[in-house]
Amino acid sequence: MQTTILEPLFNFENLVKPVHHSNGLTGQDIISVSQFDRARLAYIFSRAHEMREMVGRVGSTDLLRGFILACLFYEPSTRTSASFIAAMERLGGSVIPITQGVQFSSVSKGETLADTIRTLEQYADVIVLRHPETGSVQIAADYANVPVINAGDGIGEHPTQALLDLFTIQEELGTIDGLKIAMVGDLRYGRTVHSLTKLLTQYRVSLRFVSPEILRLPLVIMNEVIDAGLDVRETHDVADVIGDADVLYVTRVQKERFSDLAQYEEVKNLYEITSELLTKAKQKMVVMHPLPRVGEIHYNVDSDPRAAYFRQVKNGMYIRMALLAAVLGKA
Ligand code: ASP
Repeated sequence: MQTTILEPLFNFENLVKPVHHSNGLTGQDIISVSQFDRARLAYIFSRAHEMREMVGRVGSTDLLRGFILACLFYEPSTRTSASFIAAMERLGGSVIPITQGVQFSSVSKGETLADTIRTLEQYADVIVLRHPETGSVQIAADYANVPVINAGDGIGEHPTQALLDLFTIQEELGTIDGLKIAMVGDLRYGRTVHSLTKLLTQYRVSLRFVSPEILRLPLVIMNEVIDAGLDVRETHDVADVIGDADVLYVTRVQKERFSDLAQYEEVKNLYEITSELLTKAKQKMVVMHPLPRVGEIHYNVDSDPRAAYFRQVKNGMYIRMALLAAVLGKA
């Protein structure tokens, strides 16, 4: 028997915009680096390269035209907020910025995080959230029907910073496996250290943790490093690591996390990376910092080609462009 196949009245394929594969990230919240295996990292990094090339050639595109990002920051931010805004705008999208303005929003009237999120999702396709409480971004994401991206949850995680940090290491040194990476400063409260360390457990790296006793890496994260079988050592002294570090990842002592300010005063100025100190470092290595710096890296380091922190800043925009495109299904 012959069957007739009727022509469809509508070609729905032309109506429904195709959702490209984006390594499983479409529609996903970005809460923790534990969501990124090496395949996903490779995907985001290759997209970030494309973004860099596009920005270099034409500055912006309309990939995310019609999409709106709500940027909600309950803690101060310069780079994370500005780079998310720049990322969205360079991709042709728009932004509702409640960044420096939480004090002018209904949050200051006592509105809960849940209600604020439920409101913003009525307008926006994706929400970027920074909040002082660890775990709060996951809670917000549970309320929201649009993807929520963690821009720092207290002393918990800062996953997009870790992605840009790892990308920077790869870009600067051409590899991650085999490197000796030293983290210096506030390893206890520094969420960027927490996220980057977790991410690095997927690589064959040696880790060196340099901090005063009271700012040592939390035990749960140290256990992840040990379980991953990495070569790891802790010390109080930068002199122990400066000679053979490939990456010196320097961090600010997180004053806002101390309940006892006298304790902060004791540890705030313990480490300062100077050009004199760097004479003892390898020729091929990089100094990184998530910024802001408040005395941990002397300005005389800035002209050293190994100072990568402002290149790191720029990479943040490309990584966030790649992430926004992926989460919004625009691979
Ligand atoms: N900007 C980074 C953060 O938000 C590092 C810092 O504040 O010291 O965690």
